[in-house]
Amino acid sequence: MSVQSTSGSIVEQFQTNADIEVDPEDVHERVTTLIDEYQVPEGEARRSVVSHLLDEHEIDRDAFYAQSGSDGNDLVGCGDIEAPEQWVDLEAEVIQLWEPKSDSIAQVGLLADDTGRIKFVSWAASNLPELEEGEAYALSNVVSDKYDGKFSVKLNKTTNIERLDEEIDTADGSESFTSEGALVKIKPGSGLIKRCPEEDCSRVLNDGRCSEHGQVEGEFDMRIKAALDNGQEVESVIFDAEATEAVTGWSLDEATSAAMDALDTTIVAEEFRSQLVGRYFEIEGPEVGEYHLVDEVEESSPDVACEADAARLLDEHFDAEMD
Ligand SMILES: [Zn+2]
Repeated sequence: MSVQSTSGSIVEQFQTNADIEVDPEDVHERVTTLIDEYQVPEGEARRSVVSHLLDEHEIDRDAFYAQSGSDGNDLVGCGDIEAPEQWVDLEAEVIQLWEPKSDSIAQVGLLADDTGRIKFVSWAASNLPELEEGEAYALSNVVSDKYDGKFSVKLNKTTNIERLDEEIDTADGSESFTSEGALVKIKPGSGLIKRCPEEDCSRVLNDGRCSEHGQVEGEFDMRIKAALDNGQEVESVIFDAEATEAVTGWSLDEATSAAMDALDTTIVAEEFRSQLVGRYFEIEGPEVGEYHLVDEVEESSPDVACEADAARLLDEHFDAEMD
């Protein structure tokens, strides 16, 4: 959509939905400024200008958007919501309901689909049908919100709720769980790595090349891919930069300058190897693909049962040799 047609459609929307004539030149100028001078993406520029005009003309947002119906909304995943004040449609399962802390809230809980989870709030004043835990719904015309850095969606009086018969796949792996074991191995691809700086890419570079974008100027990142052995099975785990810092005491900056001083990035992985291998950890985080991601990590002491086992095994070996 061009700037011209974006401004045109805004003017039209105010005519149709609110019966208000907004100044086309003013709209055009605002849209152009946001897109050309501030490099704001078109959709966002549109939202921002509409929001400004709603305030300026003191138009009730819910009523305004209700006029638009839900035809114009994108069906998005719970995990894909990355901006506040976006009007979207969701198809998700209510996986949890909490006790509302205020009388103004009818329901509050957690929605999930295969892209992630998001908190939802349904306002008492909106008089919406009650959602049931464990049921899947198509929710059209909900609006995103951001609080404390976390996104949520608000159901409002323009929201349409339809119960879905089909099951929603909520297995996005965001279920956090705990593992404990000995860190027995640090795998290749650990330490200081470089990622593709292209938007939405962040692939790990191989010899300065991104498999999608070719040769790029990479950005440093830090991680540890390791094997955690609990005596029964060996699990692949990944520490991201934050978890790596928590467990090694090395920040990304420190790791980068150490590598620069040594003119060798591999010293970082070596340092991590010498620090961590053989120690016991309890980690907590979701599973993604074959990896258990580390959100929380704590050093733990070897399981007493494990030690007893080890002692018994040693005894058995010893007895066998004696026979
Ligand atoms: Zn890339």
